[in-house]
Amino acid sequence: MHETAIVQGLIRILEQQAAQHEVSAICKVNVKVGRLRAVEPRQLIACFEIYAEGTVAQGAELAIVALPVRACCKACLCEFEVPRFHFECPGCGGGDVDVIQGQELYIESFEVVGG
Ligand SMILES: [Zn+2]
Repeated sequence: MHETAIVQGLIRILEQQAAQHEVSAICKVNVKVGRLRAVEPRQLIACFEIYAEGTVAQGAELAIVALPVRACCKACLCEFEVPRFHFECPGCGGGDVDVIQGQELYIESFEVVGG
């Protein structure tokens, strides 16, 4: 399952970070997810709750910020937000674009208990 792999990766990072900074418990995790990742936030949160059990992130709140998809037109270098996967430049109507945002999936920050 898609979400399981993502959550396992996030928890691995959290455990490494916690060990590095001598943190014993994390209470909130702020995650940024690009819309191209096709991640369902509720599923991700539910999955996180299960896999966080017994780790430093047990009981932590997973706060997800969705990043819109942005692209840059190769023809006119116009940067624009892509609505509903409609990859057409609003400037020149061209369809040859580079995706510059939307593939992200990372931990922006986390908050620790007592910190
Ligand atoms: Zn263009």
